[in-house]
Amino acid sequence: MKFTNSEKLHQEALQHIVGGVNSPSRSYKAVGGGSPVYMKRGQGAYFWDVDDNKYIDYLAAYGPIITGHAHPHIAKAIAEAATTGVLYGTPTELENTFAKMLKEAMPSLEKVRFNNSGTEAVMTTIRVARAYTNRTKIIKFAGCYHGHFDAVLVEAGSGPSTLGTPDSAGVPASSAAEVITVPFNDLNAFKQALHRWEGEIAAVLVEPIVGNFGIVEPFEGFLQEVNELTHRAGALVIYDEVITAFRFTYGSAQQIYNIEPDLTAMGKIIGGGLPIGAYGGRKDIMEQVAPLGPAYQAGTMSGNPASMAAGIACLEVLQEDGVYEELERLGKRLEEGILEKAEEFGIHITINRLCGALTVYFGVDKVTNYSEADASDGEAFATFFQLMLNEGINLAPSKYEAWFLTTEHTDSDIENTIDAAGRAFAKMAEKK
Ligand code: PMP
Repeated sequence: MKFTNSEKLHQEALQHIVGGVNSPSRSYKAVGGGSPVYMKRGQGAYFWDVDDNKYIDYLAAYGPIITGHAHPHIAKAIAEAATTGVLYGTPTELENTFAKMLKEAMPSLEKVRFNNSGTEAVMTTIRVARAYTNRTKIIKFAGCYHGHFDAVLVEAGSGPSTLGTPDSAGVPASSAAEVITVPFNDLNAFKQALHRWEGEIAAVLVEPIVGNFGIVEPFEGFLQEVNELTHRAGALVIYDEVITAFRFTYGSAQQIYNIEPDLTAMGKIIGGGLPIGAYGGRKDIMEQVAPLGPAYQAGTMSGNPASMAAGIACLEVLQEDGVYEELERLGKRLEEGILEKAEEFGIHITINRLCGALTVYFGVDKVTNYSEADASDGEAFATFFQLMLNEGINLAPSKYEAWFLTTEHTDSDIENTIDAAGRAFAKMAEKK
């Protein structure tokens, strides 16, 4: 495949846009560098780049595009919004309609508020939890990404439960010191943290199914214990469902595990591809938010008619019969097919999969927490990524990311992907 036009555009981008990209995850730094591919059109499960190469897309824009690119029902909703005004700065009926849809899907959402990104949504749940509990410390799980605001750009130091250290320049140590990081799926470390900072924890921030070091499910009973222990400690449970909301089932992760968190943050899928965030939860907690309460949160673009219309249309598609069953069926076949090819060519991989989302880890036997994901072979992934790209398969350029199926992927897309993976593994086996 030729990437000449992408390369040209990237050289130009480097002169004007920092690093050439508007989100660092889009750079190919982690997969051997070079120019990222510049797409010019997306339709259903496919992408076409500026060199006219065609791809089967498994990036799905890092999750939101669950109904495929340019889905006609969503496109129509956005087109209509464009002709009646995309931003009013006044309330609209669409906000009520959409809020009711979210509440029906997730009964824990007694009250909701819309904003513009997952980052904003999680950021506000933390402020609200701090306001409600009058405490400041947060527990989060190592390797989980919750957005790019100071409080969560924090990673673990050494030891099973530690005060965080800044994970980015510009994050004050004082901010990181408010965050305690424990390994996912490690109840002992979690209990230790609650005990050590007794009376200081405002909230525990949980990705109920991890999506940010691959797809990692909680051990049986883990989320129930976290819920119970957190409440016993007088703290709130915040679910970051930015990736998981509407991804695996319509009721989201909280329905899968039958748990009601106190607060939930959402984003990605609920915008149907347009910018969005939302948070919600228990009425008495949400009533901390302005104009009812003392916790401030606002937004010029929040609840804009275009994002509302796209989000409503997206959920309407997801309400159709058999959507998640089909994602499960295709996801299972893709997992089995890739595993078979890996075995055939002697490539050591592990796949974590839930419904239509999966992660292929190289060189490890299992991944249940961040250290295990981190131990997977980044070089092997980088080689695989480049080979798959040249086969016309678009993956996220990181060993930690998931592959996301959409409602538009077909059996033949899956079989073609499995065959491509087989050819990639064959080349990797030759080089060994
Ligand atoms: N939380 C989770 C679990 C996420 O995966 C992300 C984005 N990848 C965010 C929060 C931040 O969302 P956004 O990029 O929309 O700000």
